Amino acid sequence: MNKKVKKIMSLVVTFILTLGIVRLPVYAQSTLPKITGVSLTSDGILSWDVVSGADSYWIGLNGSSVSNGNNTTFDLHDTSQINENTPEICTLVIEAYNSSSDEYVARYNCRIKYSSATDTFDLLPIKECSVKFYTDKNTLYQEQTVEEGALAQEIDTPEDKECYIFSGWEYEDGTPYAFGNVITDDTNLYTIWTPTHDLEKVEAKPATETQTGNKEYYVCAKCGKLFLEDSTNEVSLADVTIPALGTKPNNPTTPDVPAALDKPDNPTTPDVPATPDIPSFNPVTDEEGCFAEYQGFKFYIDDDENITCRTAADGKPVINDFKCDGTYTYYFQFDGTAMKDRLTYHPDGDHVIYFDANGHEVFNDFANVKKTIAGDEVDDYCFFNVFGYMYVDVVTYDKTGTVLYYANAYGVLERGKWFQFSDNVTWADGREGTEFIGGYGCANADGTLLVNTQTTDWEGKSCYLQGNGVALY
Ligand SMILES: [Zn+2]
Repeated sequence: MNKKVKKIMSLVVTFILTLGIVRLPVYAQSTLPKITGVSLTSDGILSWDVVSGADSYWIGLNGSSVSNGNNTTFDLHDTSQINENTPEICTLVIEAYNSSSDEYVARYNCRIKYSSATDTFDLLPIKECSVKFYTDKNTLYQEQTVEEGALAQEIDTPEDKECYIFSGWEYEDGTPYAFGNVITDDTNLYTIWTPTHDLEKVEAKPATETQTGNKEYYVCAKCGKLFLEDSTNEVSLADVTIPALGTKPNNPTTPDVPAALDKPDNPTTPDVPATPDIPSFNPVTDEEGCFAEYQGFKFYIDDDENITCRTAADGKPVINDFKCDGTYTYYFQFDGTAMKDRLTYHPDGDHVIYFDANGHEVFNDFANVKKTIAGDEVDDYCFFNVFGYMYVDVVTYDKTGTVLYYANAYGVLERGKWFQFSDNVTWADGREGTEFIGGYGCANADGTLLVNTQTTDWEGKSCYLQGNGVALY
């Protein structure tokens, strides 16, 4: 069912209910003073306090009313409603009436419980319902307490806001609410805001290698908000932006950068060769294939370059464990071979670590990751800290402290494009990266962030990339 048909149907239902309410005394609007001192004995004798200004009382049980003259006690058996077929829960209303003004002057609405087996009565407590009016999901505008079966008081209409006019209230499920609707439970009501944006269409534009594109969208000339198709669906610029296809932004002021990711040159950090020759980094022992012995463990490599580890004392294979050969750390899998070329979870289940093509766990360095944890092929650069943990959503300087990198929320270094910093970005030492949050940056093809540069962004807008890599407009 579409929304319009649903709205019309619920209006019809509301209208029918409203008609019904007028005829049923139990659901009459309870803005009259309440009759006090109401009690009911177990054998059905109802009594209440005298209401000043009333010259007769009417008793309604399950919608059928009888006059009780000016008496303030009444036997419920004197209605036609009490018999072996009476439902267990009945609605009861007492109304105080003034005949000279022809008006009700007080009323009491409640429910009673009746047992036809024992012919006993019980007055049920009145349920109080909270009715909350919200002007948006979280902004409470007014709150009322309303007895079950009664109506909420009409309230002042909230003021219109920029690009939205007030058009009524609705229930949580979107059904319209009217002040004539009976409240039967705790109820949350929300403003229906009808948008009055002045929308202008922005045509779709494909992305190129160097420039971002965009989906078709609409922008409001009054408030500047962006929308897809209709003005109820606000979107952000990021939602409609199609990233550039992957090369460095075309920008004459951008310094030329090497295509490959060069590890920063730093004499104080041991240099890790790109493809170390395994047997050469530790003396080969006399045993066939054994290339290292360290802390009671011997390390072997076979002709297929599988690395294994055994206890030196009794030759027992190491499985499902980390071992260090004195220089590098390996993880020996269930089959006894060292894990290679893989991202994996640290046994803490929290951090992601990486073993390179030689089975060496990567510490304090970049790695060109070819496979995700799930085994999907990628070509990403990730950075692993001194504990071997992958940086996720972290801005960090390189080892020389001169260039900045951003490892995004997936742990992947942003490279060769404009990007947005996430809302949870931190510095490598764990400090909150508040200066980055929500900002835009531009990474060179080698992953270094463009800094201290006047440039134009992916939309051709002029901006300055500050020392921290965040674009200032
Ligand atoms: Zn607008």
